[in-house]
Amino acid sequence: MAEQSKIEWTDHTFNPWEGCQKVAPECDNCYAEARDVRFTGGAHWGPKAPRRRTSAQNWNKPRRWNAQAQAFHAAHGRRQRVFCASLADVFDNAVDASWRDDLWALIRECDQLDWLLLTKRPQNIAKMLPPDWGNGWPHVWLGTSAGTQKSADQNIPHLLKAPAAVRFVSAEPLLGSIDFAAVPKEKISKNITICFGALTGVDGLGHSGPRIDWVICGGESGPNARPMHPDWARSLRNQCRAAGAAFFFKQWGSWAAEIDRDEDDPDWRANYSKAKRDGWAILNVEGGTGFHGDRVHLMKRVTKSAAGRSLDGQLLNEVPYGCL
Ligand code: SF4
Repeated sequence: MAEQSKIEWTDHTFNPWEGCQKVAPECDNCYAEARDVRFTGGAHWGPKAPRRRTSAQNWNKPRRWNAQAQAFHAAHGRRQRVFCASLADVFDNAVDASWRDDLWALIRECDQLDWLLLTKRPQNIAKMLPPDWGNGWPHVWLGTSAGTQKSADQNIPHLLKAPAAVRFVSAEPLLGSIDFAAVPKEKISKNITICFGALTGVDGLGHSGPRIDWVICGGESGPNARPMHPDWARSLRNQCRAAGAAFFFKQWGSWAAEIDRDEDDPDWRANYSKAKRDGWAILNVEGGTGFHGDRVHLMKRVTKSAAGRSLDGQLLNEVPYGCL
């Protein structure tokens, strides 16, 4: 509930309530759950646990940001982005439906903000949208998480079925390679092509149809963080480039790619016993650990700030351009 968010791709975070339940491998090291355990013993986590609605004072924050919209735009040349919700899921079945109605009313009222709703339950979006949603409110961006191909295959079709001004995919934590073109199209609707990028409705590959405008990519941080192979991130970047979608590289997380074996040790002469003793991870592009497999990298545990957030020497802070 930070007033100014530390999350790189948003200006504010707003949590209308707190509490959730793990639904995917990407949730394994959920920061929000760890926080709830620390402060309440985990009282708001799990299928039967009551969610906690945040205070009226907290619900007033977006109104304040909304009132400051002109000043923010004058200073930054763009609209404020609000990530809702970082400690919960807007489309959670276990949330009292009247709370979500109140949230839609608040979002409707605060239309000088761009609201970013990111969910791991995209199958619920269609049935939980407000009745006057139409083709999507222009100031609301809908997103879903996909850290693996399996999650992409499951979640992206539901996202694409929902009308939205902007759609985005959060590939964080990125746990494997993802090929957007492999997402099964028959799950969306017959004869439809998935289109990435280009707010005109036709992407850089000449496809038209429901589109993904933005991909956020990031590695995991924290004590149990899993490493991200650089080629997984590069592939997402390149797919966005080809299609004209915006790509935001958020962070490496707690692991840095220290040695690219193909580049740094092509003759396989180095002795890695010290690296292994020091707890480095060996990762190939298929996600396997060990020296077999393609594109073997040695990943070193470092702090999140030491790992940084540049990919191949570039900071990639793109957002959907039509919405600045
Ligand atoms: S959906 Fe989000 S908030 Fe809920 S458990 Fe998973 S990572 Fe945590």
